Amino acid sequence: MSDLFKLSIVVPCYNEEEVLHETTKELTAIVQELISKNKITATSKIVFVDDGSKDKTWPLIDEFSKKYEVVSGVKLSRNFGHQGALLAGVTSASKDSDAVITIDADLQDDVNAIPKMVDEYLKGAEVVYGVRNNRDTDTAFKRNTAELFYKFMGFLGVHLVPDSADYRLMSQRACKVLLSYRERNLFLRGIVPMIGFKTAKVYYARKERFAGESKYPLRKMIKFAVDGITSFSIVPIKLIMGLGFFIVFVSLLLLIYSFVQKINGNVVNGWSSLMISIWALGGVQLISISVIGEYVGKIFSEVKQRPRFTIEKDIYTEKTEEENKR
Ligand code: UDP
Ligand code: MG
Repeated sequence: MSDLFKLSIVVPCYNEEEVLHETTKELTAIVQELISKNKITATSKIVFVDDGSKDKTWPLIDEFSKKYEVVSGVKLSRNFGHQGALLAGVTSASKDSDAVITIDADLQDDVNAIPKMVDEYLKGAEVVYGVRNNRDTDTAFKRNTAELFYKFMGFLGVHLVPDSADYRLMSQRACKVLLSYRERNLFLRGIVPMIGFKTAKVYYARKERFAGESKYPLRKMIKFAVDGITSFSIVPIKLIMGLGFFIVFVSLLLLIYSFVQKINGNVVNGWSSLMISIWALGGVQLISISVIGEYVGKIFSEVKQRPRFTIEKDIYTEKTEEENKR
């Protein structure tokens, strides 16, 4: 049996016209090298997923896919977000690829880790994580918030692979398992470790974004973090319960204290304590309700079973079908 296997590299792109040339160049070089080393089939593909970009991203993908055999693309009907775009790409690519690698379009993830991932796959790993061995190129803010986030997730009992993002290789089997998780609120970093099978890690240095700016403004980062937490853990609900008991306990102590004061005939000047408790409790209640609201919102969006992405055009599948006919 030949150990040639078909590899697809899925690249989510949102307004990435500035980086596409370079990304295509570097990824193509890697794919060609792997083909010439007889590791992957000549039908292996790069799958750019256009996540509803407003710039020339799709026309460029379309152009490259005509120019280069290895380039293909999937166009989503609108912006579904990074995770949705990844899933769309994995869905198309895993139909007939033996392994799928996901990588960001901005070349922050070192493409030279790809051959290493392939080697791990050939050694039998079904999920290979790309793990950064430095985060120097991220801003201090991003670094600290990310670290805090991983710590907090760990505290909540959700075990993520530290310093690994959405740069990884998955075997076809692992992709199928991933796709069988039907949740709408996608947090792939949390789901992938749940797939199981044999895993491996490949270390790389994370670089600066090649061009353009981050498509993850603070607003999206916060949404991502909240999604991650509430999709995987009900510890926040339990914390509220604990907080509630604690506050009831404290107010009981206060009650006893003021009762004792009253018996001793001290004049109780109740205004400040009253105001403080009203405000403190009001705040606690609001926070609690908002946490519960997060979960109710999750249930709301899960029960609707809405599509997680909508493909407008799938050059990848068109190309593969064409190749299969030959
Ligand atoms: N991305 C996407 N849809 C979005 C936002 C981002 O497909 O709504 C893609 C983006 O094009 C890039 C990847 O997700 O390939 C990661 O985004 P970015 O590099 O901006 O995030 P950062 O590295 O700053 O966390
Ligand atoms: Mg980036």
